[in-house]
Formats: sequence, C-alpha cells, structure tokens
Amino acid sequence: MPKRNFRIPEVHDESTLTREIAATRRRLHFHHRAALTIVILGAVLISLFNVMALATSIGQNPPDEEDTPCALTSCDTDQLFDIDDAISGDHTVPETPPTPILDGTEKLIALTFDDGPHGILTPRLLDHLAEANVPATFFVLGTNAAARPDIVTRAHAEGHEIGSHSFRHSQLPRLSLAALRADFAATDAAIVAATTVAPAVFRPPYGLHNATVRNNSPQALILWSIDPRDWADRDAHIVYNRVVDQARDGAIILLHDIHASTVEAVPWIITSLKTRGFTFVTVSQLFELRGITLEPGRAYLHAPPAPAPDPEIETLPTDPGLLDGDPLH
Ligand SMILES: [Zn+2]
Repeated sequence: MPKRNFRIPEVHDESTLTREIAATRRRLHFHHRAALTIVILGAVLISLFNVMALATSIGQNPPDEEDTPCALTSCDTDQLFDIDDAISGDHTVPETPPTPILDGTEKLIALTFDDGPHGILTPRLLDHLAEANVPATFFVLGTNAAARPDIVTRAHAEGHEIGSHSFRHSQLPRLSLAALRADFAATDAAIVAATTVAPAVFRPPYGLHNATVRNNSPQALILWSIDPRDWADRDAHIVYNRVVDQARDGAIILLHDIHASTVEAVPWIITSLKTRGFTFVTVSQLFELRGITLEPGRAYLHAPPAPAPDPEIETLPTDPGLLDGDPLH
C-alpha cells in the first residue's frame, strides 16, 4: 500500500490540539478499515476462483501420476485407445511385433506346399516358417486334413493360408460330376472343421482341370510358375537351386511338404530370397496386393509383377497369369 502522509496539525492551544488529534485518529481509523476491507475482498475473490477451477476440473482426465498406461492384461481396450488419447497422440501401443504393411510394390513371392499335412514333416516345416516369420500356403488333401486336423489348425493359427487340393488326389477330370462335387464338399468340410474358415483357393492334383472341374470349383484354381520337381529329385540342394534360379516377382512356387528334402531346403530358400529383397506372402495376399480379385473357376499361374517395377527388378511378363485353356486337350 502506498505510504500516506498525514498533515501535522498546527498547534495553537490545547483544545485545538485535542481536536486535531481526534480528527487524525478518525482519519487513520477510516484508512485502516478501508485497507482491511480490500484484504478481505481479495481473499474472497481468490477463494471463489479456486472453487470455480475445481468445478471445471471435474470429469476431465485424472492427474498425470494416475495416467500411467497399465499392463495389457489389466486394461480394457477402451482405456488403451481412448478417443481423447488418440487425439492427443498419447495412446499406448501394444508391444506385439508389427505386421509389415505391404502395398504391392514389393518383390512378392508365394511358397506353396501340396499333399500334406504330413505328421512329422509339416510341423517341422511350420517351425522353419515360424522362425523366419514367413507365411505360406498349404494345399492340403482332405483325407490328410481330416486325419491330422491339429496340424491344419496350427498352420492356420500361425498365419498360413489353407487351400484345397482335393480329397484323395484324384485326377479330377476323370470323376463323374457327382463324385467331383462330393470331393470338393468333403475337402472343404475337412478344412472348415480344422480352421473354421472355408478355403479361398484350390489347386487341382497334377494341375489337371477341364471345364467341368473349373465350373464346379468353389474356389479359384491356383497353379504355379516355378516347379523345382521336388517330388522327382529328393535332394535339398537341387530343390534350393532350382527355386532361387527361377525366383521372380509375383511367382508361385510349387513344393511338397511330404518330402524331407523339400523341408530341408526351405530355410535356405527363405534366406536367399530375403537377401535378394523378396517378401513372402500367401497366395491370396499375393493377388490382393496386386489388385487381382480371384474368381472361382478361373485358373491362375502367377500374379502380375509390381505396377511400377524398377527396371532392374526381375519380373514375369505383364499378363495376369490366367490359364483358361484345357490342358487335357
Ligand atoms: Zn499334389
């Protein structure tokens, strides 16, 4: 408070002095009361401000010390991905390995394994694929899937695609229409029993198909563009060399998980092709990433290469890999 100067009374006589002193006391008393009033008013205003601030804070986020992200097991997802957190960019990201986001411009290639599942070799192959974090497509026989559903369940759970390869590996063009339809239905039922998912792709045994097979197939027919003949030459080195020599963007590799030599070659193939910049995908992923919608009853040899390939990237011809002719004729 600014210092106030009070006038010193001019003393003429005693009574005048007494009056002047009384007047001065009154003035001092007035100033003291004014100062006290200002202090009290200030205190009231500060208290009011605090009450309003408290009322405004109700319903907002808890204080920082209570906002520490909790463990996944003790949080619900609403809490983890709260809309306010998302807006502020302060959300918690689960610590699971990120799934690679592909856009189709990568060098893509699909490993496919026919005729399984095998009781010993297929689990061994699944171990190799899990270690390399590589997805593949298994064209299973219905009879084997029904006999070893646990292996099919595992393959599906580990991110691999399960396709149909018929029930007993018959030459399908030789079957009656009724037998053909029964074969398709039985195989799909065995796959659904193990995975709860109907297959989206089908590979005819020996690659044999005709119009009747195509027209009755519930799925697209997936053939191949690389055949290392692993069933003929049971040698891991031969299989490995044939695959890596023919590897191209968009290719589908035909292998069999019922041969130990093939399973032995798979880790070498994966390491080699990864080093050369290839990304492994399932058959359905391969076509989806290249913008191709697989159509039931249509046959595919491979996917088209990346839309804007680098001139130095090895690619297949730009045709979509369709094969509508009848190889039996
Ligand atoms: Zn086969």
